Amino acid sequence: MRPQRLLTTRPKQTEASGGRIFVTHPAISHKTALFLWSLEFEQSTRSNQASRIEIASMAVENPILPVKGKKNVLITSALPYVNNVPHLGNVVGSVLSADVYSRFSKLRDRPTLYICGTDEYGTATETKALETGQTPKELCDEFHVKHKEIYDWFEIGFDYFGRTSTQKQTEIVQDIFLKLHENDFLEERTTKQPYCEKHDSFLADRFVEGTCPKCNYDDARGDQCDKCGSLLDPFELINPRCKVDGATPVPRDTTHVFIRLEKLQPEIDKWFQDAHKKYGWPQNGVSITQSWLTKGLEPRSITRDLKWGVPVPLPGYEKKVIYVWFDACIGYPSITANYTDKWEQWWKNPDDVTLYQFMGKDNVPFHTVIFPGSEIGTGYKWTLLNHLSTTEYLNYENGKFSKSRGIGVFGNQAREVGLSPSVWRYYLLSNRPETSDTQFEWQAFQLANNSELLANFGNFVNRIVKFVNAKLDGVVPEFNPSYKDDTFDFPAWTETVNGLLKEYVDLMEKVHIRAGVKAFMEISREGNNLLQGRLDNANLAENPERTHTTIGLALNLCHLLASYYLYHALSWPQLSFVAVDVSRPRKGPYDYPKIVGYVLAKMEEEPTDGVQHGHITSLSVMRTHRRLGIAEKLMRQSQLAMVETFQAKYVSLHVRVSNVAARHLYEDTLRFRNEKTESKYYADGEDAFSMRLDLDDVAELAKRYADEEEDKEKDEGKKTTNGGDATIKSEGVDEGEAVGEVGRDPEADGGKERKIKVAVGRGLGVGDLVEKDESKH
Ligand SMILES: [Zn+2]
Ligand SMILES: [Zn+2]
Repeated sequence: MRPQRLLTTRPKQTEASGGRIFVTHPAISHKTALFLWSLEFEQSTRSNQASRIEIASMAVENPILPVKGKKNVLITSALPYVNNVPHLGNVVGSVLSADVYSRFSKLRDRPTLYICGTDEYGTATETKALETGQTPKELCDEFHVKHKEIYDWFEIGFDYFGRTSTQKQTEIVQDIFLKLHENDFLEERTTKQPYCEKHDSFLADRFVEGTCPKCNYDDARGDQCDKCGSLLDPFELINPRCKVDGATPVPRDTTHVFIRLEKLQPEIDKWFQDAHKKYGWPQNGVSITQSWLTKGLEPRSITRDLKWGVPVPLPGYEKKVIYVWFDACIGYPSITANYTDKWEQWWKNPDDVTLYQFMGKDNVPFHTVIFPGSEIGTGYKWTLLNHLSTTEYLNYENGKFSKSRGIGVFGNQAREVGLSPSVWRYYLLSNRPETSDTQFEWQAFQLANNSELLANFGNFVNRIVKFVNAKLDGVVPEFNPSYKDDTFDFPAWTETVNGLLKEYVDLMEKVHIRAGVKAFMEISREGNNLLQGRLDNANLAENPERTHTTIGLALNLCHLLASYYLYHALSWPQLSFVAVDVSRPRKGPYDYPKIVGYVLAKMEEEPTDGVQHGHITSLSVMRTHRRLGIAEKLMRQSQLAMVETFQAKYVSLHVRVSNVAARHLYEDTLRFRNEKTESKYYADGEDAFSMRLDLDDVAELAKRYADEEEDKEKDEGKKTTNGGDATIKSEGVDEGEAVGEVGRDPEADGGKERKIKVAVGRGLGVGDLVEKDESKH
């Protein structure tokens, strides 16, 4: 077998000076290049945090700004709270979904800005800092970097990932606060709050602990008892104590500022009614907002007795700050202001800008009631939320993700598994909890990749690329897309693909990402249909014109899938489909031809050539006489290794179902047992049934499965002849030669204990690898 190496998909760094990086890559923005570069940077200097913080706060020279007359798209994803390590549910619900939409919007040639950052102020940070002995600022610096690393790994293409503890945040929050004050939407109220005389500060309700007056549980919190679930007032607790030092709190008067939401309600209501109808909000977003408005809004306190926050710009409030739930959403404009001084072109420009906000359903009221209420109350002409995208919950196999109980996969762990981020992105998106809760399950995760992504899409790409490399020296032949004969109607096939593509684009416009993923797989399936029985040596010799057409159309379809779908959903071109310059002679076997361009097409709003966007014969980069690159593997670790990594033998399968019929299906047919009934769990008032099936022997099953696979591969290796013929027997079967290994070198990655050997051989699909843990030998 000839030596195989990867063709890197990352842009080559040609110049680095003063923190600016220039890349040769023509199709990506400076910002994207920067973030890709920071990945490589990270791999070479792992803990050089100071430099990485500098990257995050670097001034932006050519900011993306709205253009008059175009559809300008402003995108935000919910700001993650700085102390939490994001889990997969957080990733898919907000940042990943927003990223997919942002990529889509940019490919449609719309000026698009995607903003996110860490939400840093508040009690939780201040208290955690007390525990760790850091200042809140130091703690946030550390966690901000952790968040950025995780999202970088998932290849989330923020245009700017900022933070809320900045001077701009103070300026904008105080300006909004003072405008609300001026317009009579604020009022003062005096309340009694628990005060700890030992560490000299007021205590948030949940920082008072004591015995529950209802059930005598002695670890109840001042806001709620975890045992009996009663909502409590901190003064109701028997033997109350300060969570920080155990001292007995005393009631003390404190004055706070309240925002008069009841006075703002008519305007919030009017805006909500217009926006949700006009932009087709998801049902959960509508019903959550509706339930707040129906109950009637009440004044809510927006200041706190804390030190870590935005100072309250009123006399007498020197020892108080603005409460984090009031200022968190203001982080969106302030982070934009750190990105560009011209931030108001985005945020105070409702006529030219459309705002898309992505979040999990628990964040809905902050974005649909409180934030718009605060904006409206200032009297400024804000760009208010247009498109709301909310998700339900992604649960882990045996329940909710829980960091403290070690349940679930957290962002940093996903990386440790050693799979390409594209694999994760595919599974998370195809399983996106768009209309109901979904589950993360390891078996489904593997199935999605092996049976869908690889068997369908990977197989198609691998087959055509290998064939062209083997038989045509990697050069795209001349072909006639309107060729037609008795055996196949190529133009009709093209029409089918274009119909599916239109469907895909329509779904993406509505941010129906999960359905978009499905439409993509159908397009890829058409690729497999095209190759079926048409791509082999005999056909190439006897029917060259037809075979060249098959090849040309299939390559264009690869091109399409790589530039549209892969770009959106997987990530920037994970599939290294590159067109290269064959006129340049090679100097040796390892001297790969120079890349002349990634196959990336613009989907224009109004096609100037009259050809429908994305029409597969309209793409110009993948023309004839260009040499192809190498297709890349996506999957790098076996199920067994995954199970070992996550000790899945301790898990059980868990579902949360919302109706009685589904409950009986799981109970009677699948042998789940109902663990808990959560009444009125869903926004529409339906109950949820938490059901569980223990799988103590899953590790054993996984091992057996892996052994069987290995045996099967050995057998197939003996049976199959490999003449380079690439006839598809059926989807998922691939008897060709593997296309080479690509991706991070596990050994270079600091993975000392777990050394992974990758066997590349016959019978393997694009990403279907056999791997062995060497420590076992
Ligand atoms: Zn105390
Ligand atoms: Zn209780």
